[in-house]
Amino acid sequence: MKSKDRQLGMNADISRRDFLSGVSIAIGASLLPPSSVAADIGKQDLAGYYPPRLSGMRGSHPGSFEVAHTARDGATWEGEDTGEEYDLVVVGGGISGLSAAYFYRQAMGNSARILVLDNHDDFGGHAKRNEFEIDGRLIIGYGGTMSLESPGGYPEIAKKLLRELGIDTERFYTAFDQDLYASLGLTSGTFFDKETFGSDHLAIGDIVAADVLKHLPLSEQGKADLVRLLADERHFLDDMPPAERFDYLVRTDYRTYLKERGGFGEELLKVMESHSRSVWAVGIDAVPAHTAWRDAYPGFADLDLPVSSYEEKVDEPWIFHFPDGNASVARLLVRTMIPSVAPGEDMEDIVTARFNYQRLDDPKSAVRIRLNSTAVRVQHLDDDLKKPLRVTYVRDGEARSLTAGKVVMACYHAIIPHLCPEMPATQRAMLSRSVRAPLVYTNVLIRNWTSFVKLGLHSVTCPGSYHHGVVLDYPVSLGDYECTKSPDEPIVLHLTRVPGQPGRSAREQFAAGKRELLATSFETFERNIRDQLGRILGDGGFDPARDIAAITVNRWPHGYAYGYDPDTDRVAFNPSLWPEEQRSWVKGSRRFGNISIAATDAASNAMAESAIEEAHRAVSELTTRP
Ligand SMILES: Cc1cc2nc3c(=O)[nH]c(=O)nc-3n(C[C@H](O)[C@H](O)[C@H](O)COP(=O)(O)OP(=O)(O)OC[C@H]3O[C@@H](n4cnc5c(N)ncnc54)[C@H](O)[C@@H]3O)c2cc1C
Repeated sequence: MKSKDRQLGMNADISRRDFLSGVSIAIGASLLPPSSVAADIGKQDLAGYYPPRLSGMRGSHPGSFEVAHTARDGATWEGEDTGEEYDLVVVGGGISGLSAAYFYRQAMGNSARILVLDNHDDFGGHAKRNEFEIDGRLIIGYGGTMSLESPGGYPEIAKKLLRELGIDTERFYTAFDQDLYASLGLTSGTFFDKETFGSDHLAIGDIVAADVLKHLPLSEQGKADLVRLLADERHFLDDMPPAERFDYLVRTDYRTYLKERGGFGEELLKVMESHSRSVWAVGIDAVPAHTAWRDAYPGFADLDLPVSSYEEKVDEPWIFHFPDGNASVARLLVRTMIPSVAPGEDMEDIVTARFNYQRLDDPKSAVRIRLNSTAVRVQHLDDDLKKPLRVTYVRDGEARSLTAGKVVMACYHAIIPHLCPEMPATQRAMLSRSVRAPLVYTNVLIRNWTSFVKLGLHSVTCPGSYHHGVVLDYPVSLGDYECTKSPDEPIVLHLTRVPGQPGRSAREQFAAGKRELLATSFETFERNIRDQLGRILGDGGFDPARDIAAITVNRWPHGYAYGYDPDTDRVAFNPSLWPEEQRSWVKGSRRFGNISIAATDAASNAMAESAIEEAHRAVSELTTRP
């Protein structure tokens, strides 16, 4: 091992490896009587199976996506018939798929037999829970979808579901400690890395305050640009007739707007480069300037444009956050449908409820969830499309098939044409237009956060670095779970990375980013994480070799769902602005025989409320129309 790696702690004894197919499962299996390790038993049925505790490479973890990619590439399977029959099979166990199971049960009664298939080792899709244990203490993090954003503006169907699950959004006003970090004098910072800006520099606080600005590794022109942009005193469309402005901003990316209309130089553009990444999963070179205007990015001042209904948002604080993010929504859905899976009954006790995964696929339960199971074929039993369906899935390398009265496809839309080749060619073409933006949510458990307090920081934006942002976990205490309040206690750092190749179209960047994520080893992530945190926090006394206790990288090659138009090469960041005839996500999601189609791809809006709303629509199509 190189001495640099040793300094970073690459040899440190931390929780970083994914043992799913190794030690922990082998121990579980050995506890079972030999007869119960039958051919059809899945890993999840073995004692000790508890994926939230796994660290290392999570999200789209090794073993979860390979079968689907083989199906995409044309492989076919003849599944051995298990003889199982369900009223409904749901492909995809994310919030949309679980909501579909919930709505179907509501419509058809609690005895309806429902099976949810998901290719991951845990349910929830992007709603992923990461747990850590340190010094006997449970620390909970979120590996994907983070918060209910402005739930006051949710569609009624999503509000109703949350209420039925016992989620009282008012409770977050007391659960989320909005004063903790401010009371410790912590603020945000910006880290300028030497590879991008010539030297490493951590700017703490307001980047354009005179005493902060003067130390930035930028030229005088770069600093002047920064001051001018952040002052946000005027927009740059004075010489364009007002009637043309809207179209121009929709067609032009924010980077070009700043460069060509604002006259800003390359240094400023580098500082701003990652501004849009965590929200849109793409840099400013591919985000429409109109989207930047709508999100109140600097450079538009008092620019007045028509606001569509999609753009009206309820103004609520960013506090609607369970310690495991929206994984609690998924867990509440599962516990409601399969009560034996975990004790408890409300939004408080769900936070620490220990789930018994052996109960998820219990033959005695009307609702079952089968993990590590990739659907590879969904086909009506005959051509008249009124008959039930044969669903084939692959688990542990073996194909099996079963019969379903109806199917809700709550998976990524681009895979559906490969699973359902009988669908009309036009519908398959529309489904194929759905694109997913890749991104990474990394959780790093550190032994204490005294370095943050010494530096006066709670979050850092890192425009040129491997991860674009580092934040202390949101301070939320709910039920028996107490968040970390003292800097001497361990805490989870949340890091975000969006791979991208500036200069290419958004769709090309998504495709390249996806390839990059699947080809990047955990070791590469770990080295970059240690290096970056050491460089940002070193002056506060942080030592990556000593202070990092565990790392969980949640990579999502298929992250945010967007519609796409190949004729214009545009991604539907703001779907409500697209004319009806271009809304491929609506056309692709139409019911086909006894198959209906849910998931956020159906809305081109990667948000929990759309996952729920589309599930409701998909189930209504199957239950209220012949
Ligand atoms: C990192 C990240 C952060 C986010 N943050 C937020 C947030 O803060 N708030 C918010 O509202 N939204 C957020 N989102 C958006 C999120 O996508 C939605 O809110 C919602 O969780 C999506 O649910 P879904 O069920 O439609 O899709 P998914 O969660 O993607 O679930 C689909 C499931 O189907 C599975 N699947 C695919 N193909 C198959 C197959 N052939 N067989 C079996 N299973 C299959 C997938 O693997 C996946 O598990 C975030 C997304 C990401 C990636």
